[in-house]
Amino acid sequence: MGTHSIWVLEYSRSPVHPVSGVCYGAHNQGTMNLPFAYILIKTGDAVVLVDAGHDAADFGGQIANSIGVTGWTPPEIVLGECGIRPQDVTHVILTHAHFDHIGGLKFLPNAKIFIQKKELESWMWILAKGRRFRSLQAGLNPADILYLTQANIEGRLELVEGERENLVPGVHVYPAFDTHTAGSQYVVVETGGGDGKFILSGDVIYTYSNLTGEDATDPCFVPPGLANGSQTRLIESAEEMLKIVGMNERRIVPMHEEQLSKIYPSRLTARQLMLVEICVADGDVSRV
Ligand SMILES: [Zn+2]
Repeated sequence: MGTHSIWVLEYSRSPVHPVSGVCYGAHNQGTMNLPFAYILIKTGDAVVLVDAGHDAADFGGQIANSIGVTGWTPPEIVLGECGIRPQDVTHVILTHAHFDHIGGLKFLPNAKIFIQKKELESWMWILAKGRRFRSLQAGLNPADILYLTQANIEGRLELVEGERENLVPGVHVYPAFDTHTAGSQYVVVETGGGDGKFILSGDVIYTYSNLTGEDATDPCFVPPGLANGSQTRLIESAEEMLKIVGMNERRIVPMHEEQLSKIYPSRLTARQLMLVEICVADGDVSRV
């Protein structure tokens, strides 16, 4: 037991995601089930979400439909499974600005938002380059960038520059620049007691296959297929994360990983969504 509770909350899924999107070079290997999730951290008075999901009703929902995402469930119901209301969320740490990680911000009216300065700058640059550069816009809902501007006017946006330790106590963010996106970041949770460190990898690592390849007994880094940055930087960042957790892959929590429900205690909700319990703080109760 430690000082932080962490739950991975599935809010929709793609049953037909191309394997090549998850593993670079996995051509003609068909499709796989890909959960879409965000991660809830509770520590002290802080209610932190790592990423925010998307909104099925806006252009993010259209992107989701175009890639076969189904079963979208609003944050009220998803967070409700842990006894949290959307308005209770105090902090949102955005690993990056793809629609499925940022589009749900509008449901979290009281949260302070943290994103890398480089992430926001790079999307502004890509949008300004115009239509011929639209392949770089894949996965972006431009309205989400507008939302960040609105949140900024309201004093709810903070642009992180590189590393930030103890953004809330025991929750650190580290940059993974020029990887999945230009300004991706990942979250290290250092929870006291016996729980140790966990890494919430964002899309720098989609699934454990990015850390091990097909044969976990002879591991090989295979970077995600979708990258605006470089495959080399993705692999370097994966190695950096593994070192932080003493090369223990299971301490890395990729939010698109279906196997999490088999590695950690979990249950299916009434909406048939996966709720995975990574750890429970002293004095808190299991939601599984
Ligand atoms: Zn992404």
